[in-house]
Amino acid sequence: GFVWFDGQPGPTPIAITRTSKPKVHPADDELRFGSVFTDHMFRMDYTEGKGWHDAKIIPYQPFSLDPATSVLHYAQSVFDGLKAYRGQDGSIRFFRAAKHADRLNRSCGYLCIPPLDPELVVQSFHALVGVDQSWVPSKRGTSLYLRPAVIASESFLGVHPSKTYTYFLILSPVGPYYAEGINPVKILATDAHVRAVQGGLGAAKTAANYAASILGAEEAQKMGYTQVLWLDGVEHRYLDEVGTMNIMLKIGDEIITPPLNGAILAGVTRDSILTLCRDWGLKTSERRISIDEVMAAARNGTLVEMWGTGTAAVVSPVGELGYKDERVTINGGKTGTLTQKLYDAIVGIQYGETEDRHEWTTTL
Ligand code: PMP
Repeated sequence: GFVWFDGQPGPTPIAITRTSKPKVHPADDELRFGSVFTDHMFRMDYTEGKGWHDAKIIPYQPFSLDPATSVLHYAQSVFDGLKAYRGQDGSIRFFRAAKHADRLNRSCGYLCIPPLDPELVVQSFHALVGVDQSWVPSKRGTSLYLRPAVIASESFLGVHPSKTYTYFLILSPVGPYYAEGINPVKILATDAHVRAVQGGLGAAKTAANYAASILGAEEAQKMGYTQVLWLDGVEHRYLDEVGTMNIMLKIGDEIITPPLNGAILAGVTRDSILTLCRDWGLKTSERRISIDEVMAAARNGTLVEMWGTGTAAVVSPVGELGYKDERVTINGGKTGTLTQKLYDAIVGIQYGETEDRHEWTTTL
């Protein structure tokens, strides 16, 4: 494994300043999502002409930002999200860290943010989790969430690419997404709101896409739904994503997910699940699928299962789907057999319990 912390040699030197005031760790049972942060953070800055510099680990602390800082006005920023898991054997494993680092770098490209060296990004994951490894919880289902991000840091009110940036990484111990077993959700396909469009920022993990999703999600929640099933931005007909997850369905024996057409995020879980389905000899299609096709399949009984995929939950089964004036129940509102099998397979790999034949995990 990598031991790039505490003065151990690594490709890029990282200065470490340890906190003098370590925080109390919450009990594993009290963990939820994203509200507790560890003792340290990673930070590195970019200056035009100098490149990325001053990689360091410092005590977790606020930023001091000029009110004119570009990111606060024009959202030139990217982020990613991945997890580290502590197995029964005590080892800490990252799930597909290199793929997340690559995606962060691709997101930078969409926002005119100078590229980051993906190896250095992976090094930052190992270095910071190494320093804060006591924060990786142990209880099955818990994990340490890693949030790397880049923000435009120049103080200037013109709309242009910033001349300076900050890359940072923070860590948050999180509880199990499903405290009481996998729970199917109710989703609403809406044509009143659009999340992202082809040719826009849909394929980037960037603040604007999440800002664009808030109003639609609030309206759906008021109507009793958990998430929005986003339809394409042009015809409002084809499935894009669900909430902050990729969407998959099983119609007959075909497993269908929308293609990576520039409007949706290339989910790491999506890729992992497609790979597993292919390993198992299942028929998989990355193709456009319209809401009319889905509703028709639900009506005639060929829509067997539907689920979202993402780092937070791995899979999130859809028990009910609303569109216009119709509501359909999927698989009797229960978690489907394939959905459950996919969940078990991925979680088994993440906790080091099942064979990791694609080498998706790396040990700290
Ligand atoms: N789509 C969106 C919009 C997301 O925010 C996420 C979560 N990162 C996903 C899909 C799922 O991606 P992943 O499987 O890499 O977590």
